[in-house]
Amino acid sequence: MRVVKVGKVLLGPGYPVAVQTMWKEPLGPGDPGALLVRIGRLKALGCDILRFAAPDLPSAEILGRLARVSPLPLVADIHFDWRIALRCLDFPIAKIRINPGNIGSRAKVEEVVRKASDRGVPIRIGVNGGSLPQDLRGAADPAGAMISAAEREMDVLETLGFKDYLVSMKSSDMRATLEANRRFAAVHDAPLHLGVTEAGPLIPGIVKNAIALHSLLSEGIGATLRVSLSDTPENEVLAGREILAAAKRGRPGVNIISCPRCGRGGFDVHGFLARWQDRLYALDRDITVAVMGCAVNGPEEARHADIGITGAGDRAVVFRGGKIVRTISSEEADTVFEEELSRL
Ligand code: SF4
Repeated sequence: MRVVKVGKVLLGPGYPVAVQTMWKEPLGPGDPGALLVRIGRLKALGCDILRFAAPDLPSAEILGRLARVSPLPLVADIHFDWRIALRCLDFPIAKIRINPGNIGSRAKVEEVVRKASDRGVPIRIGVNGGSLPQDLRGAADPAGAMISAAEREMDVLETLGFKDYLVSMKSSDMRATLEANRRFAAVHDAPLHLGVTEAGPLIPGIVKNAIALHSLLSEGIGATLRVSLSDTPENEVLAGREILAAAKRGRPGVNIISCPRCGRGGFDVHGFLARWQDRLYALDRDITVAVMGCAVNGPEEARHADIGITGAGDRAVVFRGGKIVRTISSEEADTVFEEELSRL
């Protein structure tokens, strides 16, 4: 597999699989400060690359200016109009996603590819099962149809001497996504951007992506991923990093173990995690944190974590490094946990 550089992020063999998400609102002339704060938060949660739709020239301008100050490499997602791609390439955009097939004439594609090449900007060929070329729609072999669509686009770039590209083949059918990527990886060396597209709301979307992507990642397939959800970019990032952690293909990070809580629980696990989850995931540390409701399973899990807190009767017990360090009231939980976390 080849290596492709997206901003400072390297994608390909030997590098951690990068997590991507996509901005969900249209880019307008709103408050760039607030936008940057949210981008910073996505980065803290584990996002490596962020994509924006650029449906017109004004959005390309806004995206381009944002790319100059963004803490994450930004990708422009462009369809139909080659002038938008050309304008984006005037700015420090880290990658463009196009389908040469819908950009128009050969001359227009050549102009975009030449400029991307001059600027050192890679291109993602993004094949989507919902927008295949007319002659490939409804094929008996949907995975094969996506591969054929990708190969046509690759041919366009290759004949122009452009090799700095990634490929994605996404379907809302997780089996077709799985099979297309597996078959493609067996014969091509282009880095793959993985994802089940239009996967649905939070829970079904995560389940479908986890099943398909974990299989591919475990086979060594995939250089980057996006978990598409009808939900927030933050949840897409968290889902992506958990799938990578399960497949052992991501960067080290915090692993949270927590119990579902039941009628026995004295400690408010859900409330504690609602307050702490983002802060914990933003820690750039390879540690396990246990948050448990009661003495049934709590002490063992907390003992085996780097830091743990568990209910025990009407008290809470804090563990660090396998030992009990404090026994406290629930009201003291946040303060004491913070103190003990700082001692790790
Ligand atoms: S640890 Fe205790 S509170 Fe949590 S699910 Fe198990 S039995 Fe219930």
